[in-house]
Amino acid sequence: MRSLTLIFFAFISSLAFAQHQQPDAASIKLRLNKLNVLGSVLYVAAHPDDENTRIITSMANDRLMATAYLSMTRGDGGQNLIGPEIRDLLGLIRTQELLAARRIDGGKQFFTRANDFGFSKSADETFQIWNKDEILRDVVHVFREYQPDVIITRFPPDERAGHGHHTASAILAQEAFDVAGDASRYPDQVKKFGTWQVKRLYTNTGRWWNNSINESTPGITTLDVGGYSALLGTSFSEIAAVSRSQHKSQGFGSRGTRGYQPEFLEFVKGDKGEKDIFDGINTTWSRVKGGSKIQPMVDRVLREFNAENPAASVSVLFQIRTEIAALEPGVWRTRKLNEVEQLIQDCLGLFIDVTANQYWLAPGEKVVTNVELVNRSAVEVVVKQMKSGDIGMDSTLNLSLKNSTTVVFKNSKVLRSDAPYSDPYWLRDAHSTGLFTVNNPAMIGKPENDPAVTVVFSVIAAGQSFDVHCPVVYKWTDPVKGELSRPFEVVPPVFVNLSDKILIFNSEKPREVNITLKSSMEGVMQGEVQLEVPTGWKVEPASLPFNFSKRNEEVVKTFLVYPSSSEQTSTIKAKAMITGKGSYDLSIQTISYDHIPTQTLLPKAEAKVVRLDLKKEGGVIGYIKGAGDDVPDALRNMGYEVWEMKNEEVTAENLKRVDAVVLGIRAVNTNERIGFLMSSLLEYVKNGGTMIVQYNTSGDLETDKFSPYPLSISRDRVTDEQAEVRILKPDHPLLNTPNKISAKDFDGWVQERGLYYPNKWDPQYESLLSMNDKGETPKDGSLLVAKYGDGYYVYTGLSFFRELPEGVSGAYKLFANLVSLGKAKKPENTKVKGRSKTK
Ligand SMILES: [Zn+2]
Repeated sequence: MRSLTLIFFAFISSLAFAQHQQPDAASIKLRLNKLNVLGSVLYVAAHPDDENTRIITSMANDRLMATAYLSMTRGDGGQNLIGPEIRDLLGLIRTQELLAARRIDGGKQFFTRANDFGFSKSADETFQIWNKDEILRDVVHVFREYQPDVIITRFPPDERAGHGHHTASAILAQEAFDVAGDASRYPDQVKKFGTWQVKRLYTNTGRWWNNSINESTPGITTLDVGGYSALLGTSFSEIAAVSRSQHKSQGFGSRGTRGYQPEFLEFVKGDKGEKDIFDGINTTWSRVKGGSKIQPMVDRVLREFNAENPAASVSVLFQIRTEIAALEPGVWRTRKLNEVEQLIQDCLGLFIDVTANQYWLAPGEKVVTNVELVNRSAVEVVVKQMKSGDIGMDSTLNLSLKNSTTVVFKNSKVLRSDAPYSDPYWLRDAHSTGLFTVNNPAMIGKPENDPAVTVVFSVIAAGQSFDVHCPVVYKWTDPVKGELSRPFEVVPPVFVNLSDKILIFNSEKPREVNITLKSSMEGVMQGEVQLEVPTGWKVEPASLPFNFSKRNEEVVKTFLVYPSSSEQTSTIKAKAMITGKGSYDLSIQTISYDHIPTQTLLPKAEAKVVRLDLKKEGGVIGYIKGAGDDVPDALRNMGYEVWEMKNEEVTAENLKRVDAVVLGIRAVNTNERIGFLMSSLLEYVKNGGTMIVQYNTSGDLETDKFSPYPLSISRDRVTDEQAEVRILKPDHPLLNTPNKISAKDFDGWVQERGLYYPNKWDPQYESLLSMNDKGETPKDGSLLVAKYGDGYYVYTGLSFFRELPEGVSGAYKLFANLVSLGKAKKPENTKVKGRSKTK
């Protein structure tokens, strides 16, 4: 709930990641109201964006319930509208988008270990890939830990849910409903949390599934989620829209609605509630043994609350805290203790801030922090102590904080030498297609790592003591955006980054492999770096020395790698040995967007190497960006020069210089000027050019004139990456020149074959491939090619954007054929002449 305060900042600036925003009186009042409500609800679905933010916002801020969303997955398998990150990296972005959404709508966020492996057509397939029992275990874990009274699933437990993950999420919620109360199931969890019996479970149905549904439909409970908060000056549905708009990688910007807004819930199991989902559930203090006397105390605070002087409430809040602390241990004691302590701090206007002078350090290094303390109330506040096990801090302060007098001091402590690195806990170890590896059971359900360093301040106010937990952050001032912050992190002393993630070896010729070493640690460091290659490959030299004198120095070391003589896909691994310290084999990758905190990953310093007899024609490829993909890098890896053309560069004259044009994924969805550019592009094809259009979705095309002859994009997809591929036109040049393509080239594909295939096309197109998921009719629209004038137009929904970055050799050969199309035969055409101009 304290996150509610961030709503206002989210509206006005990107300060959302400042460590502590002092809440205003309206937010404090709302949380005081909430202190008297003891009910909880857990919303369950499969992906980031499945959650109904209207229900979450209304439950958390109107009904004042403890509210959370359990997403089975982190959304790793989706498409990314804002950048090139896919798979694990996209899951990381979407995790943070969910947390950004929850900071606005006031919910809490949970996950299971399930990996979003891509679209799935059935719950059975999903369960097989996830390992159903492992995911059920996590769902039960969250039920037992969070102890919700009511569960709401987004989806029905059958095919109506559409996506296999959706169906699976509803099935798991219903099973966990029974299992969480059974002490014989997952007894390790029972020891920690006890068992838990949820009262009732609903499905969040609606007109999507039943267009005649209304408030009087039998078996339906209606929630009005459109209420207005005079306190906050907004409708809950308006807050929900801001929350939903955090799903920026999915393009779910949403606009608020005002006024009555019904949500329909269908009762599924448990004790039936007649009119309301909390019917018959005690949501007052009397539900907790010994809690009855707290209700009137909170009522008194509410009566006497003075928005101009919240500190006047502090002494009664301390009395309430004493009563809560005396309760038997349990979820409500913990939850309400946290709430009341945060309220005390906020009513005091007590600002405590610890910032590090570096955003990352290596274990064993000195952490220099700046501590700022200020009490903005007339109440006497003394800060007794500051402690942190992470940096061996245990300092007595006895600082008396006078009203509005800031105390600032520096502190220097040593980071534990065994401090764990700050990379996301679920990405630390290799994982299967369906399940992340999490070795520490304490992390199950958690959305992200705990802060690297937390400092706990013991504070005495009005004669009573309480603790303030303060994660250490790094702050800086951006000349345009103002104050910004990012988490303080622990990283290895040296980063080992290979220049490429994939290296294609077109022949037996060696290739240079560059390794960038970067020191993350202060002081002199020396050692040597090695590159390990697979059997049959060779590297020169065996090792190279390096020397650093200070933090953030970088140096590039170059090795020569000789490939195997025959076609092979393998891995090369780099490591740096620091004299007197040990060996380090992690690289560094940072993800940075304005709407989420900076994310740091430490992937293994590895690259895939592919020895491939790849033939190609042409030299320069024009590339027009879509939603973002790594196809340009793959083309460079194949030996092409890639011109990433800006819209204004797409002119008839410039197009004469390129041998083929490739449209990035979803370019027809995302490039507003694509309709205008199309006339030049199609003219270019007509004059002998080759154009490859990668997948687009049908719903939001900027133009329907993106092809020389009609074709219509459908939702047809083939999600089984091993689905048989039948070659329909084995003699077509696209499948023969310069590389011979056979069924074998479709081995080793990842995640899926392709998506959004056209399902109708003009007879001018030739369909080259046929494929389908199990039990479905053949889908023949994955690769369509048409002659247009003197050139070729290709439309393909095959997932090259997933396969090329993974080094899938068959995908490279086929893509080389696409961009080489028509080149071998006509060396004399205008494009070749044009191209020579660029050289
Ligand atoms: Zn979904």
